Amino acid sequence: MKLHEYQAKSLLKKFGVTVQDGHALNDLRYFDDAVNDLMKRGISEFVVKSQIHAGGRGKGVIYNQHNPNEIVVEGGVKYFGSDVKGAKEYASKLLGNILVTHQTGPEGKQVRTIYVTEGLNYKKELYLGILLDREKSKNVIMASTEGGVEIEKVAEETPDKIIKVWIDPEVGLSGYKSRELGYGLGLEGNAFKDFIKFINNLYRAYEELDASLIEVNPLVISSDDKIIALDAKVTIDDNSLFRHKDIAEMRDTNEEDPLEVEASKSNLNYIKLDGNVGCMVNGAGLAMASMDLIKLAGGEPANFLDVGGTASAETVENGFRIILSDPNVKAILINIFGGIVRCDRVAQGVIQAAKNINIQVPVVVRLQGTNSVEARKMLDESGLKLIPADTLQDAAQKVTEAIAA
Ligand code: GDP
Ligand code: MG
Repeated sequence: MKLHEYQAKSLLKKFGVTVQDGHALNDLRYFDDAVNDLMKRGISEFVVKSQIHAGGRGKGVIYNQHNPNEIVVEGGVKYFGSDVKGAKEYASKLLGNILVTHQTGPEGKQVRTIYVTEGLNYKKELYLGILLDREKSKNVIMASTEGGVEIEKVAEETPDKIIKVWIDPEVGLSGYKSRELGYGLGLEGNAFKDFIKFINNLYRAYEELDASLIEVNPLVISSDDKIIALDAKVTIDDNSLFRHKDIAEMRDTNEEDPLEVEASKSNLNYIKLDGNVGCMVNGAGLAMASMDLIKLAGGEPANFLDVGGTASAETVENGFRIILSDPNVKAILINIFGGIVRCDRVAQGVIQAAKNINIQVPVVVRLQGTNSVEARKMLDESGLKLIPADTLQDAAQKVTEAIAA
């Protein structure tokens, strides 16, 4: 689960990670109160930042929500110094409008929340990221002196400018690894000392929050040698949310694909893709294999959908509903292996769904395993126009042919 910058910073602050003070707001009428409150705390310079689940906001473009061709303002993040009037005028251009960055795709994301924070003057921008290296089964901390720019570019053009330090899970972040990072970033004196504190707090936050990614870009050195997270992207491992109720509540479903949100409500693992063959499969491995075979047969999957090992008639119907909500879907492949789930139950779900939903596209069905004979009989007698298939290869072939026809 991704978090907004303001949410990420509020969590990191609890671990002693230095961030700017600020207020998140979803309506311009709260702007003056936010600024006045920050001024009371001795802050005199301000930054206004769009809150969306994508990076590259600074270099993004704001488009009019009612006229997608009209540019309202360049930049989704701006530093205003002590120009509060300018900051407020800019804030009014963000709220409700669409921010397009290199990470959002051309359709962009609507800015529903903005973050008004303390504006900093700093000497240098650095990069810092913590994530899981799945190949090494260890967390890796990546740091670079090339902060503020796209790290993907640095990785491609000057990979030697990225320092990587792997953390042994038995040992944790040891003193010498923190120092290796600090030296690698060319830090000295108070900045070095503050960095050691910073990285220890950040790593503790990564572990205790069950994060799968924390990226601070830029990490800055202030004029008085303090290390501060100017930006923060935090992703929390979904499987840990049951033990982080407070974080689970931060979920912003506006930022997620509406079909994926709908699917998760029905306990379906659904991921939308760009093709036109809708897939309904039980088990993630079988779902992956089905997608591979569709591709081999010359088709393109429209989604990944794992209805789970215990699929019922109801889950199958919900699965249909979600697959068919995607207008790109031109045919559906159902591939169910009856192990725990019985094929006749799935068949019942298919028949029920066909009755309740108007299915206009060809549906290829392959049911194998427990009670597959009964299932086949039920489908044959249902009067539905289904295309039966025996092997997975046969099913993939038939579904691609159905689209071409
Ligand atoms: P991103 O573009 O989505 O990664 O958003 P960031 O939070 O990284 O902000 C983008 C850019 O805005 C930064 O790289 C800085 O150049 C600038 N910026 C953000 N906050 C401040 C600030 O407090 N002071 C100054 N001078 N610039 C800032
Ligand atoms: Mg950034």
